[in-house]
Amino acid sequence: MKKSLKSLPDETGYFGKYGGQFVPSELKLLLDEVAKAYEVAKADPNFWSEYYYLLKNYAGRPSPLYYAKNLSQKLKGAKIYLKREDLNHTGSHKINHTIGEALLAKRMGKTKLMAETGAGQHGVALATAAALVGLECEIHMGEVDVVRQHSNVVRMQLLGAKVVTVKTGSRCLKDAVDDVLGTFIKNPEGIFLGTGSTVGPHPFPMIVRDFQKIIGEEVRMQILEQERRIPDYLVACVGGGSNAIGLFNEFLDDAQVKMIAVEAGGKNSEPGNHAATLSLGKPGKIHGMFTYLLQDKNGDPLPVESIAAGLDYPGVGPIFSNLKDEGRIICESINDEEALGAFQVLAKTEGIIPAIESSHAVAHAIKIAPKLGPEQIVVVNISGRGDKDIDFIADRLGLSQDNNAN
Ligand SMILES: *Cc1c(COP(=O)(O)O)cnc(C)c1O
Repeated sequence: MKKSLKSLPDETGYFGKYGGQFVPSELKLLLDEVAKAYEVAKADPNFWSEYYYLLKNYAGRPSPLYYAKNLSQKLKGAKIYLKREDLNHTGSHKINHTIGEALLAKRMGKTKLMAETGAGQHGVALATAAALVGLECEIHMGEVDVVRQHSNVVRMQLLGAKVVTVKTGSRCLKDAVDDVLGTFIKNPEGIFLGTGSTVGPHPFPMIVRDFQKIIGEEVRMQILEQERRIPDYLVACVGGGSNAIGLFNEFLDDAQVKMIAVEAGGKNSEPGNHAATLSLGKPGKIHGMFTYLLQDKNGDPLPVESIAAGLDYPGVGPIFSNLKDEGRIICESINDEEALGAFQVLAKTEGIIPAIESSHAVAHAIKIAPKLGPEQIVVVNISGRGDKDIDFIADRLGLSQDNNAN
């Protein structure tokens, strides 16, 4: 019998052909230390009981699985359920794995969590977990993002984190990643690297998946209670893949469950104008892993563009590269306009303002639901809440104060 996709990665950190550790040898030793510590923690029931305790009593899990009756009736097709990760503390699924990583770091005797952030969502979730568990926190952020996402900078500082402004390169996410790795390799003593998604070298994709798979585990119990059967479709947006594998992992062995990975189609499908890595990329190397990548002919990452900062990444986690080659997922993309439309539809029909990232998944569900019968069940992951996006979207929709006045 073929091995379950859930059992990956193999001992060397590969999901099929993808993943691995493409890093300098001094970093490899530090990664091996994390992998070993995680293996021991994973086998310790006390580690998991603390993780579950905090997710329940601090982060607010389980998040509801809500039957979106109004939206389903409006679309006259499948029954749409929403997994409400937006209701977690700090407003997204990211708290699931940052708490796990903070507990692991503490167990390893580390004193500081360090990571990069783009829009700041990951930085805030990590700074929160650091405050909770009692660790220092240092977040590197490109200067452009520091200006653009000022309120998240203030949040991180209030949570006790040190925010380091990165002034090299294009002063965005990629430069922040390089800066964090450089700083860490120079002086790794006492530091645990936090990861924003199921990306980077082994063991990070595996560890982040293990802390996120609680999403789908809850969905199975919740849908059995409400519908007495498992869903026909799971739909989630994919940047690096953490919220999507969080939902999908539990159902990988249920062949009848179709899984749709929705990427950022950006402005259009011209190179540089989107972030549809699985659909339009080719295997290559980025940030220590072998994975699908939007790349130029020299193998360098192409620029990416999306209305959603959380999806704006030229790579994707190795788990999804493998699921694509295995034919286990359907890869789709949703463009900026469609995501913006779905953002407004969900707000008006259900009173839920989704993150613009999650709106990509909602938009795809809106596309397919009318073609499905009323007995079909679609579960959409609402990976986060949209409060962070409203100023930008108000501008984009012309809902500025001037326009409201007339
Ligand atoms: C970070 C983020 C994403 C994208 O990351 P994944 O690892 O692909 O889940 C999606 N939605 C929200 C709300 C995010 O904050």
